[in-house]
Amino acid sequence: MTQTVTAEQRVQSLPQFMVAEQPRQTLWDTTLRQLDDVAKRIELDPSIHRILRRPERELTVAIPVMMDDGRIEVFSGYRVQHSSARGPCKGGVRYHPSVDLDEVRALAALMTWKCAVVGIPYGGAKGGVDCDPAVMSQNELSRLTRRFTTAILPILGPKRDIPAPDVNTNAQTMAWMADTVTMLEGKAVMEIVTGKPIPLGGSLGRKEATGRGVAIATAELIKRRQGRLSETTVAVQGYGNVGSAAATILQEMGCKIVAVSDVSGGLYCAEGLDTASLNQYAANHPRHLLEGYEAPGVEPITNEELLCADVDVLIPAALEHAIHADIAGLVQARTIVEGANGPTTPEADEILNERGIVVVPDILANAGGVIVSYFEWVQDLQNFFWEEEEVNHRLEQIMVRSFREVWDFSQEERVPLRLGASMLAVSRVAEAVQARGIFP
Ligand code: NAD
Repeated sequence: MTQTVTAEQRVQSLPQFMVAEQPRQTLWDTTLRQLDDVAKRIELDPSIHRILRRPERELTVAIPVMMDDGRIEVFSGYRVQHSSARGPCKGGVRYHPSVDLDEVRALAALMTWKCAVVGIPYGGAKGGVDCDPAVMSQNELSRLTRRFTTAILPILGPKRDIPAPDVNTNAQTMAWMADTVTMLEGKAVMEIVTGKPIPLGGSLGRKEATGRGVAIATAELIKRRQGRLSETTVAVQGYGNVGSAAATILQEMGCKIVAVSDVSGGLYCAEGLDTASLNQYAANHPRHLLEGYEAPGVEPITNEELLCADVDVLIPAALEHAIHADIAGLVQARTIVEGANGPTTPEADEILNERGIVVVPDILANAGGVIVSYFEWVQDLQNFFWEEEEVNHRLEQIMVRSFREVWDFSQEERVPLRLGASMLAVSRVAEAVQARGIFP
């Protein structure tokens, strides 16, 4: 007779060195766990739950690239389409040494929920290449991008899947992608990607869109808490594209930006930092950093000190998992607005909830980028371009409506905003899957 051994018993019987080698929880594991929780809460039809637990399509490609010294390197590239139930798939392309299929899967699912929560007609996708752009020349990056684009082209298309920039990719990367497809197809296909330079059909307002959306979400939150923007203090972790735009727009709205940081360290000023002067300094720094910035009343602080600063709003706008279980108990901010994707670990999230710290989740707070990407796509398809004022006005309309829907729903259900936003998003995707049925 076979003896049944539990997983726990099996781990206990292993030599210690093998226990330490047990696979860690990946971002995809966390994503599935969160989906399973939401499914239980909304009593999701088990058949639809099974569909949403699996990405629709995953493509892994090998990308040979001739390096400047004549060597050929082969990189791994991925494009994952999690769901096209609500429309063509949409999501960025990330260049980073940590990119793998699991991370890309998780980020693709996050895009499905993000597009659904703000009600734009897209499904979710993500792409990535396992490379380190910091040690690659522009020519090498151009060759890598063009070969990657060619390799994933069979599943791309303006009505199929539309990439955009993400970590370590930018408007130039999108220009190379659009040019590659246009050359291969022998006709202009600029609407194949968004986040392009303006002369190639990019949208005015796209560069600041994510930060502007973060600022609008912050303003809506302050309003709900009966606060005043003129009395609100803010700390921003990660003074890059998202963080700098959010800080600048919040200062224009009347907030006091008391602390900012980037990978080189942080700055604090109780009287409020001057974002115009910070922006000018970073623009002239060779790596666009705040390193070495000095002004009267400004003191240097560490990134940990910034995360624990006594402020009304903390905006993490750097990388994943900045707020982990060890930091969550020390956070003094009354509210957190997530500029980055996944800046709070699930364990930290629980601690913050218990401590009554309100968190506006990434899928709502940083959706401004994909909303204006949607506007760019609409403008490209019509070949009719809008003024920046119109872009910003429409962005504000969608952010304010989405915030209201998530806030009201979360209040009715008595759940934190993250769970409320996910419940709304998954219900909307499920409704689309249900209505379409299965073909063939
Ligand atoms: P970015 O590279 O322009 O900026 C990142 C900033 O974080 C840089 O200033 C960097 O120095 C800083 N940083 C890195 N490590 C840090 C650390 N340990 N401590 C403090 N600062 C650190 O990138 P971005 O486009 O601003 O993206 C930031 C985050 O926002 C990412 O999670 C990205 O996925 C997310 N996001 C971006 C967009 C967009 O439109 N750019 C849209 C949605 C979500």
